Amino acid sequence: IHNMNYGKAKLAEAAYYCQKFTTVSPTYAFEIGGNPVIGAHTHKFMGIRNGIDPDLWDPENNQWLPMPYTAGTVVEGKAAARKALRERLGLSGWGDKIMVGVVSRLTGQKGVHLIKHAAFRATERGGQFVLLGSAPDPKVQGEFNGLAASMGGDNAAFCFTYDEPLSHMIYAACDIIVVPSMFEPCGLTQMIAMRFGAVPVVRHTGGLKDTVFDVDFDKARAAWDIYGSSDWQRDSLDATNGFGFDGVDAGGLDYALNRAIDAWYNDRKWFHALQKRIMEQDWSWNRPALDYIELYHSAKKS
Ligand code: ADP
Repeated sequence: IHNMNYGKAKLAEAAYYCQKFTTVSPTYAFEIGGNPVIGAHTHKFMGIRNGIDPDLWDPENNQWLPMPYTAGTVVEGKAAARKALRERLGLSGWGDKIMVGVVSRLTGQKGVHLIKHAAFRATERGGQFVLLGSAPDPKVQGEFNGLAASMGGDNAAFCFTYDEPLSHMIYAACDIIVVPSMFEPCGLTQMIAMRFGAVPVVRHTGGLKDTVFDVDFDKARAAWDIYGSSDWQRDSLDATNGFGFDGVDAGGLDYALNRAIDAWYNDRKWFHALQKRIMEQDWSWNRPALDYIELYHSAKKS
C-alpha cells in the first residue's frame, strides 16, 4: 500500500483475502493502521522499508561528478562537487558556505511551506540553498517562481526541472538535504542523500522516521535498529545519522535545521565524521529483501 487515498474498495478486498500485506515502512504502517480499510486486518499488516540501488546512486563510480569519492575522501569529493555546482548554477564561490538542498516534487505532501522556509533559513544563516523540483499545481509553481525571483542569485538557485544527472551533483555538493514531508510512505531522497554524505534534516513521519535517527535524541533507537544492539552507550555504536523534528510549522523545521547548521559552524570535524558515518550505512535492498523473505515464510505458515 503506497497511498491510502486510491481504490479503497480494492484495498479492503485485498486486505480481506491476503495472508499478509505490507506498506513501505514500519512507521507508515503504524500511521495508517487506524484507517477503517485496514483496521480489521492489522494483525496481517506490516511495513518493510524500501531500499535504494547503491550502484545507481554511487559517489565512487559516477559519471556526473567532477571527482569520485568514498567515505574516506568525502570532504574533498564534496568540495569538488560544490565548486562545480556553484559554477554551473551561478552561485557565489566566495568563502566556503554551507550548502543546503532540496530535491523534491513540490506538492502538499512534501511540505512546500517548509521547503520555502528552508530556503530563507539557510541563506539567512549565511549558507547557500539549492532546489531541484517542480510543482504540478500552477499556483504553487507561481509561488516558487516568486521566491526564485526574490531570492535567486549569489546564494540561492532554483531549478524547476526534472534532471536526474543534476540531482547527483546536488546530493554530492550539499552538506544538508532537507526533507520536510507532511507524510511519507518511505522516501528515497534521505537515503540517497546519506549515500552521498549529505546529512538529512527530516520531518519524523513515515519512512523518514525509520531511516533518520537524530544525533541528539535517537542514539538508542539507532543502535537497536542498525546494529541490533541495546549497548548504545559505547561510542562505536553511535549509528545516529541526521536531524529530525515533529511539528508541522516553521518552528519545528528551524529546531532541526538550526542544530544541523550550528554543528557545521561550531565543530567541522564532528560534522565531517558524521558525513563519513552516514556514507557507510547500508540503505540498499539487502535488509528489506531479508524481511520480505521472512514475511513470505510466515505467510505460508498462517
Ligand atoms: P516521491 O516518490 O513521493 O516523489 P521519494 O523520496 O520516494 O518521493 O522519491 C523521490 C525521487 O525522485 C528521488 O530519487 C529524487 O532524487 C527524485 N527526484 C525528485 N524530484 C526530482 C527532480 N526534479 N529531478 C530529479 N530527480 C528528482
